[in-house]
This record gives sequence, C-alpha cells and structure tokens, in this order.
Amino acid sequence: MARYTAAVCRLCRRETAASKTGEKIKLFLKGDRCLSRKCAVERRGTAPGQKTQNTKARQKISEYGRQLREKQKMRRYYGVLETQFESYFREAQRVPGQTGKVFLQTLERRFDNVVYRLNLAMSRKQARQLVTHRHFRINGRIVNIPSYIVKAGDVITISDRSKETDAFKQLIEVAKNRRHPEWLEFSETDASSKVLALPGREQIDTPVDEQLIVEYYSR
Ligand code: SF4
Repeated sequence: MARYTAAVCRLCRRETAASKTGEKIKLFLKGDRCLSRKCAVERRGTAPGQKTQNTKARQKISEYGRQLREKQKMRRYYGVLETQFESYFREAQRVPGQTGKVFLQTLERRFDNVVYRLNLAMSRKQARQLVTHRHFRINGRIVNIPSYIVKAGDVITISDRSKETDAFKQLIEVAKNRRHPEWLEFSETDASSKVLALPGREQIDTPVDEQLIVEYYSR
C-alpha cells in the first residue's frame, strides 16, 4: 500500500503559509502533538524552507492556486494519494446530488477515518496501521482495508485478543472520554461502534471548501 512517508508537519506549514486569511491550518497528522505547544504550526507558521512570512506572496495566489491548495489540503487531511483521491471524485460525480458533498462524505466514510473519528486511534495514520494489522471487524468479519467505505448500520468491533492489550485498553479509555460525531455510536460497555447514518455536511468538521475542489477537477 503506497503512502506518504516524508515529514508531515511540513504539509501543515505549507497550507498555513498559503492561507489567504493567515489562519493556522492544522491537518492533525500527529495525534496529541497537534494539540500541544510543540505543534510546528503553533511554533512557526512559515512555509517549509522559508524563514519569515511572505504576505505579498500570499496575496498573489490565483484562482487556480486556491483550488489547487484546497485540493491538496483535503487530500493530505485524509492521507489519500492523488490517484485514489481523484477516483473518489470521479465516483462522486456519477452519483446524483451535490458532487462536493458526496465526495466529502465518501472520504469521511473511509474505514481508517471512522476509526480515527471514534477516537480509537490518535491520528489517521495510526488508524490505518491498526486496520491493516487486523484489529477490527465489521459486522463480525475482519476488515483490514483502510479504504473500505462504511455503510449505515455497519457494526465495528475490536477483536477480543486486541482488546486485552495495554495499547487498546488505553485507546478505549480515551474513546470513552471523548465526543464522537453524531452519525457514529460508541458503546462503552463492549467498545463496539455502530454507523447510525451517513454523515451530513454539517456533521463533518473538515476545514475545506469542497466547491473549490469541484471547480479544480471541472477545469
Ligand atoms: Fe500539523 Fe500536527 Fe504537525 Fe501541528 S503537530 S504541524 S497539526 S501535523
């Protein structure tokens, strides 16, 4: 399975430097570190390889540049490589309805993202690793494919052996104490989860303007 292996904080710094409003863009790729003062965006919001903020360069970004940056931001947020990202978009185009919303919904329904949203992993990267290492079942069957798209009604469980490990005991404790999106239900009794419904746009807090990505691929 191909994946991005370079320093991930550079990706956040790139998006922050490109932000027109100067807001700090966090892609949350490093678990708890992202919430601490060690976060590279908190320490310096400059682009990689740049010592100071170049506000003039920020003002010059073209419409195409904005669309491209939004696309890159969303792709990196979910940790998906270019080819697969575009194929999600092309599939969303074939579904009746708003392409941008369907596209975002598809990414949100990826199994690795769902594990992350359930707080059973500290980052999407860790979620991907836990899924490929066969720790989870969907409707009773082992699913080790991070790109599996969950459906309403799917029940996600942790394998009995994994649940007994210290690592999972800690993750389950964290999951019990954090909020989950409304479209996912987490049972504190047996650490199982259920997909109650497909996520609505208002239930997805991904900081992207999906319309810009629709425009990018419609050029
Ligand atoms: Fe981004 Fe997290 Fe690194 Fe901060 S710590 S720059 S949010 S990946």
